[in-house]
Amino acid sequence: MLLTGYSMEINKAAACKPGYQPLYCIAHLNEDIREVLPYLNAEMKGIGFTENPPSMMLQVDDRQIAIQPNQITINDIRDGEEADRILKWLQQKINEIWERRAEITPTTKTASPLKVVDIMRILPKTNCGDCGEPTCTVFASLALQGKRDEQDCPQLDEESRKNLAECLKRR
Ligand code: SF4
Repeated sequence: MLLTGYSMEINKAAACKPGYQPLYCIAHLNEDIREVLPYLNAEMKGIGFTENPPSMMLQVDDRQIAIQPNQITINDIRDGEEADRILKWLQQKINEIWERRAEITPTTKTASPLKVVDIMRILPKTNCGDCGEPTCTVFASLALQGKRDEQDCPQLDEESRKNLAECLKRR
């Protein structure tokens, strides 16, 4: 086991809405986990990675989590109970990925989040309607939400279909 535990510190973040006090959590880790970070980044599709000092960002639901060798910071939490639940899940992920590291290709690269415009670049942009949608933009937005895929646009040639399939893996 790489990470045996942590101690939590809950702080108040700057209030941006009247009547709502956001909190954030800093977990001080029992062990230095820097070696797992490139494996974690590869498996959990990190949204940012810095090599020196090593740190990575994860997007989980609507919240961002910063993971550093000795601490994890989670923003926008309701209370300590919620933070602890997220940390226990992360601890389990870290240990599981560390155990499987021989099968994983570590990386410090990050995939930028997929956008409608990335899908539009691949579509024919003729707004022909053959897919049942009024425009290619509507199709792209549905594809981003996972409601359409590369098989649903009959106008794609084979290569564009493959490119779209590859692109949609980033959803
Ligand atoms: S079938 Fe393809 S090209 Fe035609 S509107 Fe739909 S997404 Fe656009």
